[in-house]
Amino acid sequence: MTRRVSIFGATGSIGQNTLDLLRRDPAAYQVVALSGGRNIAQLAKDALEFSPEVVVTAFEDALPELQAALAGSGVAVEAGAQAIARAADRPADWIMSCIVGVAGLVPSLHAVRQGATLALANKESLVAAGPILLEEARRHAATILPVDSEHSAVFQALIGEDIANVERIIITASGGAFRDWPQADLAKATPAQAQTHPNWSMGQRITIDSASMFNKAMELIETKEFFGVTEAQIETIIHPESLIHAMVGFQDGGMMAHVGPPDMRHAIGFALHYPMRRPLDVARLDLTQIGQFRFYAADEGRYPALRLAREVMRQGHLWGAAFNAAKEVALDRFIAGDIGFLDMAILVEKALHDMDRAGLLGTAPRDLPDVLQADQATRERARTIDV
Ligand code: NAD
Ligand code: MG
Repeated sequence: MTRRVSIFGATGSIGQNTLDLLRRDPAAYQVVALSGGRNIAQLAKDALEFSPEVVVTAFEDALPELQAALAGSGVAVEAGAQAIARAADRPADWIMSCIVGVAGLVPSLHAVRQGATLALANKESLVAAGPILLEEARRHAATILPVDSEHSAVFQALIGEDIANVERIIITASGGAFRDWPQADLAKATPAQAQTHPNWSMGQRITIDSASMFNKAMELIETKEFFGVTEAQIETIIHPESLIHAMVGFQDGGMMAHVGPPDMRHAIGFALHYPMRRPLDVARLDLTQIGQFRFYAADEGRYPALRLAREVMRQGHLWGAAFNAAKEVALDRFIAGDIGFLDMAILVEKALHDMDRAGLLGTAPRDLPDVLQADQATRERARTIDV
């Protein structure tokens, strides 16, 4: 039986790794929809290889180029956010949501509303709209499988366990590009320096978020939303080797650690085959070569993003949506050279507190429009705040 699969964000790092897994067993999958952004050459190449029913670029002005590249192929070609939403309504068994940013929320929601299995890499979905997404999944009997390495690790450590017996969840962090930099040098760090990662190969935005720990901050919020634990139960620790992705501590003092190479194809493959495990040709760890696993406390003074994540988790409601929006704007402004590396956290904190003082974050969102409204309002504020 072939499975119908769609990938939203197919041209990105997670999307390409997902296609790499499908390519290994082409007869097993029928690709329904692929979406991308401005990398039309890649999108067209993948469409010709996988023959989806529809291929969508997020950007209307890129449509003619995509149409030209796929003329005569029989693949339907569309553009824009609405087209992505429609493509996510096409019946599929398994849908990978791996667009970067809040734009990934729509395909995530549409995937669960049609009762598909949602492979969720887009962490913004859980951070900005966790309760809505989970409630919709419950209502439509959809399964969500996390495809962040840490959350896939926690999920795997919890198989056969009762979440009620969990005492703590420890999310590991590599420390990112500036792990070994003196604090005094961080103010001068450039985007070029921030977008190299010691262990993982990922998209530009998540790599910079790893250096600032905003990625880890997002992951702490993801953990709270997805696993339903309290803020106090979630810890983070620096683990420079990035080989233990997460640990779950139980009430009897035992801990389950998930260990694996820093290769997202493991988490993607796990989600693709769940509840089965299939052989996967990725690197195996040689523990005698590795020798040791190191751990350090993650200092919230050095990483204000972690402190902000705790405030967001305690406050709930629209704080997650605002946090993500402010973080995206801060990142844009850092990449554009408008603010410094350390200014990102200052800007996010100011934006959150402005929004809170204006009384805009204190109600629980009922549906997507509430989330997107908070997202937009926070972006407008964050674009003009001086740091
Ligand atoms: P990426 O930048 O490599 O790819 C992003 C994809 O989103 C591309 O296909 C791009 O065309 C598309 N896109 C960008 N803006 C868009 C828009 N406005 N509308 C529609 N599509 C748009 O990103 P990535 O590293 O693959 O990460 C994707 C998501 O997965 C992010 O949420 C990230 O946090 C998460 N994630 C990534 C990794 C990783 O290893 N790369 C690990 C865990 C989680
Ligand atoms: Mg991660």
